Amino acid sequence: MPVFDDGQKETEIPETEDVVTTDVLVVGSGPAGASAALFLSELGVDNIMITKYRWTANTPRAHITNQRAMEIFRDLGIEEQVLADATPHELVGDTVFCTSIAGEEIGRIRTWGTRPDREADYQLASPCLTVDIPQTYLEPILVRNATERGTQTRFSTEYVSHVQDEDGVTTTARDRLTGHEYKIRSKFLIGADGARTQVGADIDLPLEGAMDIAGSMNITFKADLSELVDHRPSVLYWVIQPGSNVGGIGTGLVRMVRPWDEWLIVWGYDINQPPPDLTEEYAVGVIRDLLGMPDLEPEVTGYSLWGVNEMYATHAQKGRVFCAGDAIHRHPPSNGLGSNTSIQDSYNLAWKLAAVLQGYAEPSLLESYSAERAPVAKRIVTRANQSAREFGELFEALGVVGLEGEEMARAIEERKANTPEGAAKRAALVTAMERKNYEFNAHGVELGQFYESNAILADGSRPAPTEDEDLYHRMSTSPGAHLPHAWVGDNVEKHAMLDLAPYTQWTLITGIAGEAWEDAAEAARTKFGIPLQTVVIGPGRPVTDLYFDWAKLREVEESGAILVRPDKHIAWRAMSLPEDPGTALGEAVATLLGKA
Ligand SMILES: Cc1cc2nc3c(=O)[nH]c(=O)nc-3n(C[C@H](O)[C@H](O)[C@H](O)COP(=O)(O)OP(=O)(O)OC[C@H]3O[C@@H](n4cnc5c(N)ncnc54)[C@H](O)[C@@H]3O)c2cc1C
Repeated sequence: MPVFDDGQKETEIPETEDVVTTDVLVVGSGPAGASAALFLSELGVDNIMITKYRWTANTPRAHITNQRAMEIFRDLGIEEQVLADATPHELVGDTVFCTSIAGEEIGRIRTWGTRPDREADYQLASPCLTVDIPQTYLEPILVRNATERGTQTRFSTEYVSHVQDEDGVTTTARDRLTGHEYKIRSKFLIGADGARTQVGADIDLPLEGAMDIAGSMNITFKADLSELVDHRPSVLYWVIQPGSNVGGIGTGLVRMVRPWDEWLIVWGYDINQPPPDLTEEYAVGVIRDLLGMPDLEPEVTGYSLWGVNEMYATHAQKGRVFCAGDAIHRHPPSNGLGSNTSIQDSYNLAWKLAAVLQGYAEPSLLESYSAERAPVAKRIVTRANQSAREFGELFEALGVVGLEGEEMARAIEERKANTPEGAAKRAALVTAMERKNYEFNAHGVELGQFYESNAILADGSRPAPTEDEDLYHRMSTSPGAHLPHAWVGDNVEKHAMLDLAPYTQWTLITGIAGEAWEDAAEAARTKFGIPLQTVVIGPGRPVTDLYFDWAKLREVEESGAILVRPDKHIAWRAMSLPEDPGTALGEAVATLLGKA
């Protein structure tokens, strides 16, 4: 009799009862975990992802999706899927400050690179622009693509504990449907289990800072507000009214989830007092106040309390166990960095795990994960908290610090007066609003991650800081920097530089005068087994420097070479073609892979 199997491979039943084996176990299916699983599967690494809930995130927490995250989605071939569910770049820009949505406007700031002069910086730095995709839409895309590409995804499955030895990690997992516990034996474990990470606690993750420094709540609701907002399209409408200076993330926030009929309110409370009794009635009251619509009957779809954190890990690895995402950086949503950075953590880690598992790099490569990502964690936690505090300058400009109720309303009203006090307030507002660029147009923070570690061969060329490192990003090919963006191609196709360097490869970029590097790369590939391709840019070659931008950005001579890691950071460069390119590249690769 023929065996009919629908052409599908059956999941293998473990040989040893109650012990499942895999190469990498990922705990968590949030932005960090789901993207780690996707990257591992893309690289052909066997992996299992477990998550304790029945499904992915149920509140649209993260939404601002910055250029680096979009570039990663482009690299993984899922950019179109993300864009299909996202609110486009042109609708994210007019961030509004007001006394309520229906009430008076205090001012606006063009955000996320939508101000024409800043838009140039953003467009020159990346083929992708910032968009808005709620976490509830993004996570299913990541999980689906990870699972399609090979991840074994297990919902309602809880991480309980782990032990590690020289050869691997044995994790105890609990199936929450049956209550049954079983073991998962893996070579590596990634704890992407969020701000209250159990994996992190179990490896004594070294942390600095404090948790729950302010009380906050999310309220989601449906109400068509088109008439009030579609002439000033934005994802963020900040509300300054009595109570908005208590706890929370700077002031009250009405955030678009879907234009313009689904919303999320973030509202603070005093963390030193008992938390409010968050009922539907309470939620409706907050919605009506922030919208300035006392008779509105909104459809409340959810509410929850959460704490604002200011904490980062100073190291993210213990042996075979790594933490990523909010597990290593916990901060308010200001600057929209949490999910973006979580995805970038995993992008940094997954290829290194693959390199070690596939045998072309030594385990010492893995030490570079903490060395590269812990400083990023510190930077973004510091920036996000500072941005939340800088709302204080807005309160000061309006003269509302310490005021409540009618007094606060009167103080806000005073900015209209033809008096010295009114004039002073108007001037102070200009300065306070300018400051908010550090939250909403912090291009340097968003893109300027520069690595120093054993996976980078520094040559002392780290570029001097820009005039303001938080606001402005400077592209460079100095080892440690991210591959600069330029458009290249031919008469038929146009590619971004990053398209030439896919995640599955290391890429050596050179010009026509550097074609001898091709043999050097071939030799390194043969000797080390490293997936290394060469890209020659120039006329008559597969890609040419369409706008002559790359020639101005590459910083090396045409005969030089730039070695790009799978995560698009530059590992090494040669300023020109040496006498013996094979030895130069071979020594560099050996050192980077821990084989020198
Ligand atoms: C209101 C708000 C707005 C935000 N806006 C933005 C924004 O605009 N842009 C941005 O980049 N970020 C934003 N963030 C931050 C963002 O939501 C987080 O940084 C992001 O979710 C972190 O991802 P993560 O995968 O590390 O953790 P999480 O998303 O918290 O995921 C943790 C995962 O671990 C699983 N888990 C936990 N414990 C266990 C266990 N014991 N066993 C098994 N599974 C477990 C959970 O089921 C979950 O899948 C915002 C946050 C809030 C609250």
